[in-house]
Formats: sequence, structure tokens, C-alpha cells
Amino acid sequence: LEAKEEIEHNSLAVDVMTPRRGDPALTVLTQEGMTVGESLIESTRFSGFPVVVSQESQRLVGFVLRRDLLISIDNARKRQDGIVSASQVVFSEHLPPPSPEAPPPLPLRGIMDLSPFTVTDHTPIDITVDIFRKLGLRQCLVTHNGKLLGIITKKDVLKHMAQIANRDPDSILFN
Ligand code: ADP
Repeated sequence: LEAKEEIEHNSLAVDVMTPRRGDPALTVLTQEGMTVGESLIESTRFSGFPVVVSQESQRLVGFVLRRDLLISIDNARKRQDGIVSASQVVFSEHLPPPSPEAPPPLPLRGIMDLSPFTVTDHTPIDITVDIFRKLGLRQCLVTHNGKLLGIITKKDVLKHMAQIANRDPDSILFN
């Protein structure tokens, strides 16, 4: 029982999130700069993407679901005048000034969750699990000093709990 408690109490959000140490960085969208034709969304299978101010700052702006992004882009291409592959997708509050060379931008701030749930990297995982349960979260973002660091999905939490149960079969007796 002691061993189990130790593992659970020592696990932090940073131990459960993606990316793990040495893994490739999180796939994020920047609030400006991505174009309608960019294949980022098509080339990855994640259910959602954090949106950040810029790659350098990694300041969180919001979270957008893959499904909403695909539907909005598809609709805009079909129905909105001037939207082409080179049109810029804009999540920021203000649109870039119109330019004669650039096609019209596609403003998508409206489909973004502006306050996705976040925990810091040092939040104990049992507290994070509690938040998932109580708020019915599908995913939660992890930050460090206000910068985006990772993501934890509901499945990640379930996998982590299964791992703990495997590592310490005795724990089942006490649950
Ligand atoms: P699920 O965990 O339900 O399969 P996803 O398909 O969104 O949901 O995520 C699959 C895995 O990829 C999870 O381990 C998750 O932590 C990670 N992940 C989710 N979104 C991203 C992202 N934008 N960039 C990198 N990894 C991600």
C-alpha cells in the first residue's frame, strides 16, 4: 500500500503529459501565420490543437478541436468569397491589415475555446485526475511559468492509472 501511495503522490502532470522527455514537441497552431491549405491538420491525427501567440513565446491563446477546424475551413472554401489555399487562418482578435497581394484571411477566433483548462507541470497527478472527473474534461493543457508545455487527454489519464495498477498488483486488493 505504501508503494502505491508513493507512486501516486510522486507522479506529476509533467510525468503523464505529451510530450514526454525526449519526444518531439507538441503540435501547436500559431494565432496567425497558418494558411488554409497547410497540411498540418491533415498530417496529424490529434483531436485538438493548442493555439499559441507564436512558436517562440508558446503563450497560450486557446484550444481548437480538429473537427471544428476542418468543418470551418471546408465551409469557408466552399462558401466564402476569396478564401483560397494561401488565405491566412487568423485566431487573433484583430485581423492583419488588408494587403493587395494577399488573399482575404479566414478569421476563426469564434471556434476556439478561449479558456481551456490548464494545470502546471508540478500539479500532482491525483489532483489532475480529480479535476478530469469533476469537470468532465476531455483534455487539459500543462503550462510552466505561463508557457505551454504539454497536453493530457482523458485517455492519457486512464492509461496512467492502468499502469499504476499493473506496477503494483497489490493495490487492487486495497481499492
Ligand atoms: P486520445 O488521447 O483520446 O487518443 P488524441 O488523439 O487527441 O486523443 O491524442 C492522442 C495522443 O496524442 C495523446 O497521448 C495526447 O496526449 C497526444 N496529443 C494530443 N494532442 C496533441 C497535440 N496537439 N500535439 C502533440 N500530442 C498531442
